[in-house]
Amino acid sequence: MIIDCHGHYTTAPKALEAWRNRQIAGIADPGAKPRVSALKISDDELRESIESNQLKLMRERGADLTIFSPRASFMAHHIGDFEVSAAWSAICNELCYRVSMLFPDSFVPAAMLPQSPGVDPASCIPELVKCVKQYGNVGINLNPDPSGGHWTSPPLSDRHWYPIFEAMVEYDIPAMVHVSTSCNACFHTTGAHYLNADTTAFMQCLTSDLFKDFPTLRFIIPHGGGAVPYHWGRFRGLAQELKKPLLQEHLLNNIFFDTCVYHQPGIDLLTKVIPLANILFASEMIGAVRGIDPETGHHYDDTKRYIEASHQLSSAERRQIYEGNTRRVFPRLDAQLKNKGH
Ligand SMILES: [Zn+2]
Repeated sequence: MIIDCHGHYTTAPKALEAWRNRQIAGIADPGAKPRVSALKISDDELRESIESNQLKLMRERGADLTIFSPRASFMAHHIGDFEVSAAWSAICNELCYRVSMLFPDSFVPAAMLPQSPGVDPASCIPELVKCVKQYGNVGINLNPDPSGGHWTSPPLSDRHWYPIFEAMVEYDIPAMVHVSTSCNACFHTTGAHYLNADTTAFMQCLTSDLFKDFPTLRFIIPHGGGAVPYHWGRFRGLAQELKKPLLQEHLLNNIFFDTCVYHQPGIDLLTKVIPLANILFASEMIGAVRGIDPETGHHYDDTKRYIEASHQLSSAERRQIYEGNTRRVFPRLDAQLKNKGH
């Protein structure tokens, strides 16, 4: 089985964006604020948006199952207050849940949280619990910077975040550490802010003893871990100077990297530097980079091709990246698959 652990609903029907625009207009003009019930998207519209996009590409490329969360750049936690984020998260999570019900063999949901700058993350717990218990979500996306590029929250190692971590441990779900749109003109959203945040989250964990407090907490650092694998020697050296244990022991029981790296040399480096047990297959398809690479004639985000073409990986190691590691990091997914006889 080939599991893509990083997919977003980037192709939702236009009515979703129209509702969101009305919601944003309603922040300044409460009379314009739409009701949640004003958003109407039929099952047929959902089916169409998936069958002609993600599902089509999964079939063409040979992926079986996608862990599917709301569109990351649309989370935009910096917009409005907690109430705005709460209504928006509930809507987006429900849509991913409906997709998982329409295509139960192909999509399993992961939740976005109703984060809001300056608001206690404990406020996100009810949505998290609903998504796990009622919607069968197997993970969450956690935004380490709900301000959208201004980094006004404490680092992930701060007790500020502990309510989320306690819930993650209680429900045995991992978090993909995933920022959203940058509203800081210095940082391009997907070209800079995403990769900066991946690197930043790793370093926040490195300088702290977070995983002493939460030995079973699990983070997936997406986009191949930002700059981390490329600069692995720097991080090893920094840990050494800080008198931290070796990274293997200090971080690698808890931190995992996905394969959203859009060229062969990047995947080769990732799989050479990072232990195989810490690499999870992902494409983030129909996401940041949708074009075709003129050097290969294939989509940049067709990451399975790079795994297949690797000279370093045995077929057993590929299976570990495609399925085994992901089932270990997402125990609730593993349980769902076992129930279905996989
Ligand atoms: Zn993403």
